[in-house]
Order: sequence, then structure tokens, then C-alpha cells
Amino acid sequence: MSKVVIIGCGGVGTVAAHKCAQHPEVFGPEICIASRTQSKCDAVAEAIRKSVPNAPKIVTDRVDADNVDEIVALLKRHNPELVINLALPYQDLAIMEACLQCGVNYLDTANYEPKDVAHFEYSWQWAYRERFEKAGLTAILGCGFDPGVSGVFTAYAAKHHFSKMEYLDIVDCNAGDHGKAFATNFNPEINIREITQNGRYWQDGKWVTTKPLEIHGSLTYPRIGARDSYLLYHEELESLVQNFPSIKRARFWMTFGQEYLTHLRVIQNIGMARIDEVEYNGTKIVPLQFLKAVLPNPQDLGENYHGETSIGCRISGLDKEGKPLTYYIFNNCSHEAAYRETGMQAVSYTTGVPAMVGAMMFLTGKWNLKGVHNVEEFDPDPFLAELALNGLPWEEVINGDLEVDKL
Ligand code: NDP
Repeated sequence: MSKVVIIGCGGVGTVAAHKCAQHPEVFGPEICIASRTQSKCDAVAEAIRKSVPNAPKIVTDRVDADNVDEIVALLKRHNPELVINLALPYQDLAIMEACLQCGVNYLDTANYEPKDVAHFEYSWQWAYRERFEKAGLTAILGCGFDPGVSGVFTAYAAKHHFSKMEYLDIVDCNAGDHGKAFATNFNPEINIREITQNGRYWQDGKWVTTKPLEIHGSLTYPRIGARDSYLLYHEELESLVQNFPSIKRARFWMTFGQEYLTHLRVIQNIGMARIDEVEYNGTKIVPLQFLKAVLPNPQDLGENYHGETSIGCRISGLDKEGKPLTYYIFNNCSHEAAYRETGMQAVSYTTGVPAMVGAMMFLTGKWNLKGVHNVEEFDPDPFLAELALNGLPWEEVINGDLEVDKL
């Protein structure tokens, strides 16, 4: 029987399936990929058979992961130890519910979001803590890159470098060029909902709200150069300021080009970012979902994508001896290299690889807390060691200029 069932077979699911298949000693003898459209799972299974020597047997299945009963039936058919949820954030609670019913552990890369409100926070999933703990099960939340590696980087900084972390800036740069006028790098609906929300950051014990993309400035990214970076709210800030209470200020920055922002402004101005239903020719449609149907599919961007992503944490505070310290830990990932290996671009790659590594940590007993936990609550060392071996090496800069105080 399968040790893991991967639910969702988009860009991220495709990468995670490839990476799991590269480790038959952990994920064998069989991996199940299940999604709403089974033919996509079949295509990925075929690609893995062709490109990964010694891959375990890949089986595929169909599931509507909005429906708890269907997920329960899927889990009963495959009897896994762990579900890797790489569908959309809307499905998180249904999949967690089914995992509890079947005694299966859980891992995801994005926190729950209701379909009808563009609002994401951990409260809905943290509410499952007691039930997972009582059932002796583990749920690992937010195990992509950001959230995911960003939390593990922070935990690593706390463990090895700081006696007190005071300022945290998570910086996410995509300096790639896919040659399209406008496209999103992961699911367009989720991406546009995230970016068009108000910004928010943590300062002196409370959240400060900004208008969408109101605060921005130039940051320099390694081997890339200066890029305009915009303050966004990002979900890992919520758990990181709780798990590391010495943090006085926590912010998240993402780069956008002017062309992207102009398209985004037009999309909003003409109502195409709306997430409420409108009547069209006697049918109810959600404009943002319709827009997704006509935008380039993020999974098809890889072929002509050039350049790199660079994501990391810039942290300052006091070192283990109580002296001032600045610390920058980051990964740069090449779109071309990601595509050569998995057929997907670097944004899917940097999410799918950590999902596989998190699953590996759980299945090999290195991450074994029961209950519902964010990634920074686990030991960062074995995770970062595997991450580096699996295509995402990371680098550190000690006492360099973090640049973040000028923003
Ligand atoms: P895609 O849209 O490419 O893929 C989503 C997949 O989920 C598709 O295969 C889709 O099926 C499937 N799916 C959607 N609804 C259902 C359903 N009801 N039942 C079963 N399957 C369903 O998205 P991505 O691969 O880009 O992203 C996957 C996840 O990763 C998202 O939650 C995203 O937010 C998260 N993410 C996290 C990042 C991080 O760093 N933490 C970064 C990037 C993404 P179908 O093919 O039929 O549409």
C-alpha cells in the first residue's frame, strides 16, 4: 500500500511527486497521486516512469477534495501513513477531517482560506490541535517555501545563531522571465487573492495594516541585484511571532515588476478580481475563477522561463554571546534547472521540494510531534540538510547589510 497519497496534481503536486519518486527507500513501494482530474495524475505518473530510475510504483486516483466522504473513501482504498495536500487552500479542512476519520497524518503548504472571503489565518486549522493530538496523529502546516522553508530558516537562526531575534524580514524575489505579458507563478486565483489584500506586519506586539502594496522599496538580492519589493501579509508571520515571541517586528516582502502591477491594477479596476458571483448569460460565474481559465497555466510556463528566484530571511538581534548580529539565510533556485528536472518552473519547484522533505522528515521519524504544528516547531537541522541535497542548497551571510531598516 502507499505510504503517501499526494492530493492535487498542479505545478506543486507534479514536483512533489517527482521528488518523492526519487526516494524509493522512504516513499516506496508505492506512491498514489490523486486529484480532481485523474488524467493529469496519469500524465505525471508516466513522466516519472520515464525520467526517474528506480521510481516506486505510481498509482493514480480521482477525488473531489471538497467532499470529506470522497476523501475518506480514497484513503481507505490506499491506506497511507500520510497525506501530502497540494490541492488548494479551500480543501485543507475537508482533508484534515478525512485524515482524522481514517487515522492518517497530514501535511500541507498553504493555510485554509474560505472560498467566499479572501482571508487566510491559522485559527481554523489550529482548532484541530486537540483532535490530532488525542488521535496520536501529526499535522504539519505550511511546508512549502514561504510558508515552509522561511519558518525552518527562522528556527535554524534561533537554534544556531541568536540568543534573541528582534527583527525578521522574509524576502521573496522572483527575477525570472517567462516571456508572457502577464501570468501568475502559482494558481492565479490564490495568487491574485493574496496580493490584492491589505498588507499587514507585526510591530511591538500588534498587527499594523497597510493598503495593498502601499509600502515598497528596493532590496538587493544575491546574484540578481536590486528589485522593488512590496510589503504583503503572509501567513507564516502569524505563527512565527507566536513561536518566537522576542521578535519585535516581522514583515514579508515580495518583488513585482511594473508590467505585472499594471496588469493587476487593470484586472482589479475592471472587476475581474472579484470573488463574488455574477450573473452571465443565465449562469452564475465568479470573475476571478473565469480569469484563471483564460490566463496562462502556471504549469506551462516552465519551458521558456529564465532566471532565478531568491527567497530568504533577514534577521537581526543578539548573538549567543549577547552581541549585535545580522543574519541572512537564503536559497536561489534556477527556473531552467527546475524545468529540466521536473518539467515545472522554480516557484512550483521551491514549494514541491520542501513538501517532499517535510514528508520525509515525518516518515523517517525525525519530525514526530503529535498534534497540529507549524514547521518552525520541529528540528530544523535534518530538514535543511535534506533540502540542500534535494535541489535547494542554502547560503548564509553573517553581519552583512540587511538593508531592511531603510524601508
Ligand atoms: P494548481 O492550481 O497548479 O494545482 C492545484 C491542483 O489541485 C490541481 O491539480 C487541481 O485539480 C487540484 N484541485 C483543486 N481543487 C480540487 C478538489 N476540489 N479536489 C481535488 N483536487 C483539486 O496550484 P499549485 O500547484 O500552483 O499550488 C498548489 C498549492 O500550493 C496551493 O495550495 C498553493 O497555495 C500552494 N503554494 C504554496 C507555496 C508555498 O511556498 N508555501 C507557493 C506556491 C503555492 P485540477 O487539475 O482538476 O484543477
